[in-house]
Amino acid sequence: MQYRMSELFLRTLRETPADAEAASHSLLIRAGYLRRAAAGSYTWLPLGLLALNKVTAVIREEMNRAGFQEVHFPALLPKEPYEATGRWSEYGPALFRLQDRRGADYLLAPTHEEMFTLLVKDLYSSYKDLPISLYQIQTKYRDEARPRAGLLRGREFVMKDSYSFDIDDAGLEVSYQKHRDAYQRTFDRLGIKYVIVSAQSGAMGGSASEEFLAPAQAGEDTFVLSEGGAANVEAIVIAPTAAINFDSLPAAQVHDTPSTATIDTLVEFSNSNPELRIDRSWSAADTLKNVVFKLTNQQGDVRALAIGVPGDREIDMRRLEAAVYPEVVSPFAEEDFAKHPKLVKGYIGPQALGLNSPSKIQYLVDPRISVGSSWITGANAAGKHVFNLVMGRDFQADGNIDVAEVQVGDNCLVPTGKVLELARGIEVGHIFQLGRKYAQALDLKVLNENGEQVTVTMGSYGIGVTRAVAVIAEQHHDEKGLRWPRSVTPVDVHLVIAGKDEPLFNGATKLAAELNQAGLSVIIDDRMGVSVGVKFNDAELIGIPTIIVIGKKYADGQVELRDRFAEQSIDVPIDEIVATVKQLS
Ligand code: ATP
Ligand code: MG
Repeated sequence: MQYRMSELFLRTLRETPADAEAASHSLLIRAGYLRRAAAGSYTWLPLGLLALNKVTAVIREEMNRAGFQEVHFPALLPKEPYEATGRWSEYGPALFRLQDRRGADYLLAPTHEEMFTLLVKDLYSSYKDLPISLYQIQTKYRDEARPRAGLLRGREFVMKDSYSFDIDDAGLEVSYQKHRDAYQRTFDRLGIKYVIVSAQSGAMGGSASEEFLAPAQAGEDTFVLSEGGAANVEAIVIAPTAAINFDSLPAAQVHDTPSTATIDTLVEFSNSNPELRIDRSWSAADTLKNVVFKLTNQQGDVRALAIGVPGDREIDMRRLEAAVYPEVVSPFAEEDFAKHPKLVKGYIGPQALGLNSPSKIQYLVDPRISVGSSWITGANAAGKHVFNLVMGRDFQADGNIDVAEVQVGDNCLVPTGKVLELARGIEVGHIFQLGRKYAQALDLKVLNENGEQVTVTMGSYGIGVTRAVAVIAEQHHDEKGLRWPRSVTPVDVHLVIAGKDEPLFNGATKLAAELNQAGLSVIIDDRMGVSVGVKFNDAELIGIPTIIVIGKKYADGQVELRDRFAEQSIDVPIDEIVATVKQLS
């Protein structure tokens, strides 16, 4: 194919769009790949569509290579299958629900587990039919609370979703591994750098699950690299601190602690009163902070939950949300405190908490708050704290909850070892052993070798196709613009005509035809009345990795080759340029 800049439907922009939160978002708009249509939905312009199609083709090839078969479902679906699995209500406000003219309920599918399960149930009935893996590349709808950063979090987006069906757990393990391998190949070919992290399965309900996270500043996920592996922060398990003997610890004492509204001032106060601790000075990690939240379950029932964490860390809301799912967390407001007069805001101590306490508020503590650990904490009276309050001696908890923010140096059980680094990433793929949840809910059974009906076990596997386009842009750009990996570049060669003379135009037309002949697609910048400087800027912004400049030296039989990945441009004889470029790609 040849695309003439003089005709191509495209306007490049010099300015960063006001709402751009990520480099990929800004560059894809500025370089003329996308236009915003509505919140979280985008129109693909010709160049954008070429890039999307390239990405889609790589994904499809790798799915086919792995032996998965492509099908295609509608996005508009009746509610009944989603009611059978509970997701019609469970999905909450993220589900686009609508009605037809007869008043029947429909949804725009956010993901298709139900439909795939029913399809296999419709056609298959024996273990001999399994295993099978099916996939589709299809538009999904989610009314995301915070659509952001262009394609990274849309409300309408393209997903590749696959589903595996097996007779037993060993089969599922094999199917899962096949998908994992196919994903690695796919992302390698797409030029996406990624880490595979263990993940919390969240709304899908099931067991083993891993995410492919593309490290990027613009990412919304935080992952942890430890000595033993990588995991999403929601999946981290902190090693509990061992119990210690508390026989020799001093008795708990309540003290007036004026002007100690913050942890820092409290620690300072404590250390200026040396009788409060003899063995060493106090630090923020010796204070016990108790925070109360409101939890609402799917029936709408509300309860309070108090969480105790060392005062040197905050509660990580994403970890908390994942830990209490499907209950939903909200802050404990003034009116909630009013209902619990025993809770003194700012001075809540463990002795006022717990299912067996008068407040009857469940009290869960961080795994570092172990038997024998000694704390400074609220004394349940305004202006007072208690010192040397010992876990297991002076207070109890109803259990552990591991939702404090993770810090470098923390000791983990999952992934094992010390936390070395915390980084941000974009989830570009997700593989997941669903198990029998959907098969059970929708009664997908087959006959086994002994003629018995057994429930099928499933996996589900997603790739964010449109998100992947943004991830590639996020990971492959420089200050001048995009820089597509050659495997997914929308066009192979950007041919800039640097001059106004007719021989240059004729030469470019001829060269473009030769490049086409060699299987390479070309953009020709044949615009009249546009300066060479503007043409170069546009070429760099658009990001085609191979730029050929046909200019002054053409008369001497030379063109200039600019490789966006190389430091310097080189002059190449015109009769060698096609072969040279061919070698690059
Ligand atoms: P996230 O945590 O980012 O919301 P998710 O866990 O909801 O993702 P899945 O339901 O596993 O995602 O969907 C499979 C893949 O679809 C994700 O790995 C991601 O790449 C992509 N995806 C999910 N939500 C969006 C969205 N709103 N916009 C673009 N891509 C998305
Ligand atoms: Mg999501």
